[in-house]
Amino acid sequence: MKNLTSTKIIATLGPSSDTKEKIKMLTKAGVTMFRLNSSHADEAEHLRRLNYIREIEKEVGYPIPTLLDLQGPKIRVGVLDDPIELIQNSIVKFRHQEKYIDGIIPVDYAGIAKDAKVGEKILMDDGKLVLEVVQIENGVLSAKVLCGGLLKQRKGINIPGSTGSINVLTERDIQYVKFAVDNEIDYLGLSFVRDGKDVMELRELIKQHNGKTKVISKIEKPQALKNIDDIILKSSGIMVARGDLGIEISPEKVPIVQKEIIQKANAQRKVVIVATQMLESMIEQPIPTRAEASDVANAIIDGTDAIMLSGETAAGKYAVEAVKMMRSIAQNVENSKIMKHNCYPQDLIDCCKDDSIAICMAIVDMVEKINVKAILTLTASGYTPKLLSKAKPSVPIFSFCPSYRNSRRMMLYSDVYPIEMELSGGINQQTLETLDKCLIERFKFKSGDKVIFTGALPDLLVGKTNFIKLHEIEG
Ligand code: PGA
Ligand code: MN
Repeated sequence: MKNLTSTKIIATLGPSSDTKEKIKMLTKAGVTMFRLNSSHADEAEHLRRLNYIREIEKEVGYPIPTLLDLQGPKIRVGVLDDPIELIQNSIVKFRHQEKYIDGIIPVDYAGIAKDAKVGEKILMDDGKLVLEVVQIENGVLSAKVLCGGLLKQRKGINIPGSTGSINVLTERDIQYVKFAVDNEIDYLGLSFVRDGKDVMELRELIKQHNGKTKVISKIEKPQALKNIDDIILKSSGIMVARGDLGIEISPEKVPIVQKEIIQKANAQRKVVIVATQMLESMIEQPIPTRAEASDVANAIIDGTDAIMLSGETAAGKYAVEAVKMMRSIAQNVENSKIMKHNCYPQDLIDCCKDDSIAICMAIVDMVEKINVKAILTLTASGYTPKLLSKAKPSVPIFSFCPSYRNSRRMMLYSDVYPIEMELSGGINQQTLETLDKCLIERFKFKSGDKVIFTGALPDLLVGKTNFIKLHEIEG
């Protein structure tokens, strides 16, 4: 795990990262988790890539989690025989239908004329085309072109206002949930979430399949910002999905919203990811712009757990270089004096006033005062390591856990390095000897090194932290 930074790096797979060799190179360059994007490719292709990841996981000897992104209620233009030139100030018509007929542009969303309102904006092709709704009549929506250009078929449509009558899960998404559960995918990314109810719908479906996959809600709509606290409460993690978010709320609002979402997710002790266009220019160029390097660094300083690459690794010319660059930026930030370590955000302290946080605060205080090499947690669910990770400790958190699935999931938490280990019997002399041996052999610890033990005993109680033990490694 020497190649891994405290901040976790996520890489999206695609045509540029399609072979086992390439995925292994990305892993060695510092990727912690891979994202499979269900909007592209099919199940067979995703399964092939997933099998490569599972083979690589065995070869490198540590867990590699996966995130499968569901498309969610993404609205798209239907089938066009030829691209259509949208001329500024002209009026164009839209209707829910499959193909371009009667001079009306097809949209794959049945609620298009019901949900949109006169005066609202419609954005197409990543926000490059901008229109304003001027009339809705008999299921036909008319809009004036504010920003014109060429419209191609199947391009995405964003209606930043309400899209209340569209289901959060499409038929295709429902299929992919089963795929994710059957193939033990760790996280499902839910696109275009609007409220906590959307999150619960996906959680219910996962439960119906007896799945353990956790939900990461992608924040990319203004409605989601309104309901952010409840969405965070009901999700296992949050993604600041700046691509669509930047279209829906406009780019100049994204930086502050990013900081607010990270702060709120951290306060509720949820894992958080910053995504999209982080090193965008590396799709074409071997080095990033200075602004991109700063953006990656600032996301880490904002307190994110993970940073994500999209087109850079999925379709870029410099996929491995992009990961290496991200890792190097992360290392520079993590080793700098700017980065605050061993310190809980005030919002988190205000938000949870239980014994566990008091104990974890004492632990990071000890890390400041005693020369310890690591924090070791004994955990079943990952509750204690996640809580500790929010303090961004200056030493790694090794998380010993009897469940491989849970260990793999914990890999996404910043600073956490999970190790699968049978732990029945709590901490007795034999457990200590086994752990010492593992730390010396696998992680080059030395006899006499001090570590702090924590977790919940006996029986690795879930959702609790109840002890601290200072331990000196013997070997
Ligand atoms: P996408 O989501 O890459 O699936 O669109 C991320 C984003 O919108 O930023
Ligand atoms: Mn998106």
